[in-house]
Formats: sequence, structure tokens, C-alpha cells
Amino acid sequence: MRGSIKMCVLVMIGAAIIFYQSHLSNTLVVRIETNQELPNAKEEMFVDGNGIGVAAVGAGNSGAVGILNINSNSHSQLALPPLYIITPTYYRAEQLPELTRLSHTLMLVPNVHWLVIEDAHTKSPLVGELLERTSLKFSHLVAPMPDKYKKRKVKPRGVSNRNRGLQWIREHATNGVFYFADDDNTYDLRLFEQMRFTKKVSMWPVGLITKLGVSSPIVRNGTFDGFYDGWIAGRKFPVDMAGFAVSVKFLLERPNATMPFKPGFEEDGFLRSLAPFEPKDIELLASNCTKVLVWHTQTKKNERSQPLDMVKYGTTNLVDLKKVIF
Ligand code: UDP
Ligand code: MN
Repeated sequence: MRGSIKMCVLVMIGAAIIFYQSHLSNTLVVRIETNQELPNAKEEMFVDGNGIGVAAVGAGNSGAVGILNINSNSHSQLALPPLYIITPTYYRAEQLPELTRLSHTLMLVPNVHWLVIEDAHTKSPLVGELLERTSLKFSHLVAPMPDKYKKRKVKPRGVSNRNRGLQWIREHATNGVFYFADDDNTYDLRLFEQMRFTKKVSMWPVGLITKLGVSSPIVRNGTFDGFYDGWIAGRKFPVDMAGFAVSVKFLLERPNATMPFKPGFEEDGFLRSLAPFEPKDIELLASNCTKVLVWHTQTKKNERSQPLDMVKYGTTNLVDLKKVIF
């Protein structure tokens, strides 16, 4: 009898704690939703019934606030500017694992529309099934690399895909921000909340680039003072594809902006095509470019796997596994 009273008291204390915590986090959610800019706040993380929240602010000239939702239904309540994530991808053994990784990052970002654009003539059903499983808003498109570039030793990788993404934005988007997110990089969630309020073009450091280890705008006394990159090559904007985001409105005002099929000069060519736009106009994020929020990771290429012995294994689970392993 005494045991069950004790149990009852414990349950009541537990319920009271849960109630108190949910009350606390609700208060926080209201604050986040009603404040789009909190210039002097610090980063805060919290958990509530809708998922994990973050307020990541005070980064240079453009603070950003958002909620990282696990529950996609609540995205529409946020009224945050949309993020269009343009991801070029192509068929290879690493494609599904890369897209799995990236999709699971994007599932934690509110109000995202993922443009997954295959360098292929037809859509891969496996990629389509992966996208369906994410619960993300997405568009699954194809944009094959023109044959004349395929024959070249150094290819303009992902360019036809990204230009297809730009075309989609011109046809469907009116506000928000877009970002070229390759399928193999590693993205910190804070990056998405910071780029969301880009007015023209925002930039930040990218880790694991060239011998220097990082590519970044240089910030001296709080202002832009050139670029640090292992390969300048006469580029006006010597930056990596993962190192900038662009306002949709800014793009729409520039009907001729496009990415050139010029290996090594894709970023520079695209950013130049946004003229009028000068390096001094860059919005510096990641706490005035002092933090690495995206890494240019590269996955080891895997050999094609050996064919399955169908006589031995033709009626087993291995047949299904082979379909995704290649
Ligand atoms: N990509 C593509 N077609 C290709 C090669 C690459 O669509 O023939 C995509 C790839 O999936 C990635 C982006 O283009 O999202 C950049 O390619 P990769 O990562 O190989 O280039 P790197 O990062 O090494 O410059
Ligand atoms: Mn890459």
C-alpha cells in the first residue's frame, strides 16, 4: 500500500514537471514566432512539442531566427521566408547515401522547398521514393549535362542542373532565398536560419576547400576586405558554390543571370551575371565569417559491386539489397 502511494506521488511529480516544461517551451515558441530579428540575442536551443527550436542571431548584419521542426505540419504557421535548396545530383553508388544524409538535414529546417535535379534524361525511381519519404516540399527534375561537355576531361559538374533550378525559381518563386547545396557537402542547421533573411547575396566560410583548408570572405575591422581562397585565378568572386545564398527577388530583377559551363569558374560566372552586384554588397554571415557552418566534404568513390549469384541467391533478400547498392 505504501509502495503504491509512493508510486502515485512520483507519477504526479513527473506529470507536473512535464506540464511545467511544455509551458516554458510554449512561451519560448511564441517569442520566436513573433520576432524575426533579435539583433543582440545569442544562440538558444530548446525542445518543445513541435520539435527542436533554435534562435540563431546576431550574425553580422543579418540576424536570423527560426524553428527547426521535426513536425512538418507546423511549418506553414511560421511565416518564415521560404528557402529554395537547389541540389544537383547524378546516378552513382554514393547517390542514395548522400541524398539520405542531406534529406535528413533538410527535414530539420522549416519552410524549405527542395529542388533535386538529376543530371540524367529520366528520373530515378529510387530518388523519387526517397523524396516521397521525406515529407519535405520538393520538386524532382532532370537536366542532363549536354553531350559536348560530357566528352571533356574536366566537366562542368552540376551546371545544367543548377540552371534548371534557376529556371524553376523564375517560374514558381516570388520571395525568399535560394542556395546551391551539392548532395555531398555537410551542412550545419544554423546556416539555413542565417541565410533565410538574405537581401541580395550573403556569404560565409566553407571548410575543407583547397590547401588552405577554408575559403572565406576576409573581414577586417568588421568589414569586407577581399577573399581568402586557395585558387584565385583572376576570379572577381573566388568563392565556393556552398559559400553563398541569393535573394529570389534579387534574381528575378536580373533576367539574364545564369551559370556558365566553365569548370572552375561556375561560381564566379554566376555571381558576375548578377550585375549590378559588387563584393562590397555582400552580406557577411556566420558571425562575420568567424564560423564554419558548411563543409565541402567529399565521399570516397566506391567500385561497382560484384554481380549477385542469382543461382545461389535469386530467391533471397539479397536481390532487393542489390537494387540500392549497384
Ligand atoms: N554532379 C552532377 N553531374 C556530374 C557530376 C556531379 O550532377 O556529372 C553533381 C554532384 O552530385 C554534386 C555537384 O554536381 O551535387 C558537384 O559535383 P562534385 O561533388 O562531384 O564536385 P566537387 O565538389 O568535387 O567539385
Ligand atoms: Mn562535392
